[in-house]
Amino acid sequence: MILDVTAIDTYYGETQALFGVSLSVDAGEVVALLGPNGAGKTTTLRSILGLTRPRRGAIRFDGADVSRKPTHDIARMGVGWVPDDRRICPTLTVARNLSIALKRTRFRPWSMKEVFGIFSPLEYLVEREAENLSGGEMQMVAIARALLGSPGLVLFDEPSQGLAPKIVQDVLAIIRRLKDEGLSVIIVEQNAETALSVADRVYVLDRGTVAWSGLAAALRDDAGKRRDLLGA
Ligand code: ATP
Repeated sequence: MILDVTAIDTYYGETQALFGVSLSVDAGEVVALLGPNGAGKTTTLRSILGLTRPRRGAIRFDGADVSRKPTHDIARMGVGWVPDDRRICPTLTVARNLSIALKRTRFRPWSMKEVFGIFSPLEYLVEREAENLSGGEMQMVAIARALLGSPGLVLFDEPSQGLAPKIVQDVLAIIRRLKDEGLSVIIVEQNAETALSVADRVYVLDRGTVAWSGLAAALRDDAGKRRDLLGA
């Protein structure tokens, strides 16, 4: 198991957003977090990353307790993040955005050359300032940046948001490739169909708790269950 989250309670100020959320991710597994707006999906990712620390409960990544560690240490241990708003430095070039992300961890390192092998258009955009990229190009930079940090686990927050269907398919193909490489992935999605097409297992969150967990295939193959749990 690469990630083990046990009964976390996470707050924003005095407002509790997560109530005893537990989940796990095995090495090489793609896990989807689904559920309606405000269910706590992003807060779960923020808790794992140490951006909003849980008040109670435990988070173990790669065998170590990370629940009190600062975000930069968690990144250095091999947790990569593709945020929903991408958070690319707009005034820096693509090359600079990527080079500042290069890190070594105990996991497989990714070189610039390899990353350009996956995201071939980026190679022609390296000198471009990030603010002049399209949404799809920015998403490529955001994923490339996460890979250059040599992650063992990559957290994708709403990767399909705002992207054309063709680009969404490209992103899903990349997630499958990461899985083939042995990386673990958590994908947060509003769009259940998108997430179910790549996920091995699913957690459905509802009002800050885990309402259901099980195999993605169980939801893919059962429209009734999908409707009950996801309204979709
Ligand atoms: P969405 O798809 O809308 O992002 P989500 O499932 O990711 O939904 P969260 O963003 O994790 O849900 O929100 C969980 C709860 O925490 C919601 O009630 C939300 O209003 C609250 N919340 C989220 N961010 C903050 C914040 N910065 N300050 C206060 N409350 C917040």
